[in-house]
Amino acid sequence: MREIVEQVIKELTVSRGEAELIVAALLEKPRFGIYLNDSVDQGTRKLLHTRLMQLKTGMPLEYVTTKMQFMDYSLHIYPGVFIPRFETEYFIELIGKLVDFVPERILDIGTGTGAISIALAHLYPDAQIFATDISDIAIRCARENIKKYGLGERIHLTQCSICDGASTKFDLIISNPPYIPSSRLRSLPKSVRDFEPMLAIDGGQDGTQFIELIIQQTAEYLNPGGVIALEIDEDTTAILKKFLQVSGYDKFSFKRDQFRKYRYLFIGNLKNEKSKDIN
Ligand code: SAM
Ligand code: GLN
Repeated sequence: MREIVEQVIKELTVSRGEAELIVAALLEKPRFGIYLNDSVDQGTRKLLHTRLMQLKTGMPLEYVTTKMQFMDYSLHIYPGVFIPRFETEYFIELIGKLVDFVPERILDIGTGTGAISIALAHLYPDAQIFATDISDIAIRCARENIKKYGLGERIHLTQCSICDGASTKFDLIISNPPYIPSSRLRSLPKSVRDFEPMLAIDGGQDGTQFIELIIQQTAEYLNPGGVIALEIDEDTTAILKKFLQVSGYDKFSFKRDQFRKYRYLFIGNLKNEKSKDIN
């Protein structure tokens, strides 16, 4: 095992500590566990080698191990499916703090791994959740994660665009849509550019194309008193504010993430109106 750690230090030019963490993640063991059984069998050695070579290409660790952690949930993930971010964990916490009612019917647009739906199913144990995604691989991945948490009866998956064909109304409509302006795609980190699906990230010319479509298309599916909650890019707040005003919305606010960036747009009445940042 020491030999393998040395190899990782050399191949990936990382410190010993980082190499130990990487080997632990690749072997799916705790860090202190990697030296416990010093001899490594042939199968494990081969697996480690394959995974190490994948990492060397810049592939995110989540795709290499096909596992990732979102809040308390250990999710399956595959190349081709968007890797949930810390900002989306914070989004779920904000929902719990700001939404002033207990939603019974929730719509999650562009569910990816199913992370948002699974977290909300636990936050609201009586809610029925409808989750959509246009991507075939995302739907398959979400289905697997929903099954893992035994939520098949409460989270209903549909492969469609936005909420095509929805037949009921919702109290809470949530989405982390593609929102990066197309011109900025080239400056994203290489691991994102080369490995994550652009379908999940490209928000059109100014990053608001998808958000505006969601607001327009879901209007008729929102129950009175309901809330629409969207993840957005900080640079798009001015454009979105204008769009909302022109479209006749007056109850909306932009909230910051844990890194102090404006990251969320809430439409509708919220619990703590004093905390609103831009409106
Ligand atoms: N909700 C997940 C999360 O927060 O980790 C995934 C978010 S990812 C940024 C955006 C998702 O929207 C992707 O899974 C992508 O496939 C999906 N998507 C893109 N265009 C769509 C469309 N027209 N209708 C529904 N989903 C779409
Ligand atoms: N936060 C993602 C990134 O920076 C983009 C997410 C999105 O478009 N929804 O790569």
